[in-house]
Amino acid sequence: MLFKDLDIIQPIQKALKEEGYSKPTPIQARSIPPLLEGRDLLGCAQTGTGKTASFAIPILQQVYNEKKSSKEPRTIKAVILAPTRELAIQIGESFTAYSKHTNIKNLVIFGGVSQHPQTKALKEGVDILIATPGRMLDLYSQKFLKLNNVKYFVLDEADSMLDMGMIHDVKKIISHLPKVRQNIFFSATMPKEISKLADSIFKNPVKVEV
Ligand code: AMP
Repeated sequence: MLFKDLDIIQPIQKALKEEGYSKPTPIQARSIPPLLEGRDLLGCAQTGTGKTASFAIPILQQVYNEKKSSKEPRTIKAVILAPTRELAIQIGESFTAYSKHTNIKNLVIFGGVSQHPQTKALKEGVDILIATPGRMLDLYSQKFLKLNNVKYFVLDEADSMLDMGMIHDVKKIISHLPKVRQNIFFSATMPKEISKLADSIFKNPVKVEV
């Protein structure tokens, strides 16, 4: 199986090749097709399996396909939540690498640093927002975030978020998103709280485990 067998568009395929990816990992091969069809997905996968590209590629491809026919200013179309700034930064680097032959822009926001560069970048416009929950809520309450065009929502390392006491913030963020959207959860383990949250927002999800 190759990336081209998964119907990945040329600009992304080219970037993957430049990253040195010759073929999809098992989680990618099983997640990308249903995600490109717009299905919700609950993935059980550890770091190191290639889970980031499993959600980043289909989101980029869908955003790319929608953007071609629209000359509207940049608005946030996808929100990716991660438990730590390190993970958020890594996810941002992956999005940047895979989207380098498109004009899709991502921004990573996290706490513990000045918010000014983040709010400045938000004002200039981004397509994809990668965030830790606390800073995201903080900037939302200050009205720096417009979420009405969000169509894709990812919760990465959901079990760590639960362990770190972030689930209340996550639920608050979800309540601010448009109701019609694609939902993607990745978690190394599947505690009850996470499967309950998934059940409450998912529509007929695909379940993938590696
Ligand atoms: P992740 O599990 O998303 O943290 O990815 C683990 C590592 O695998 C990262 O360094 C990725 O760049 C790399 N990776 C992801 N997908 C592939 C692939 N299809 N081929 C080779 N390396 C990959």
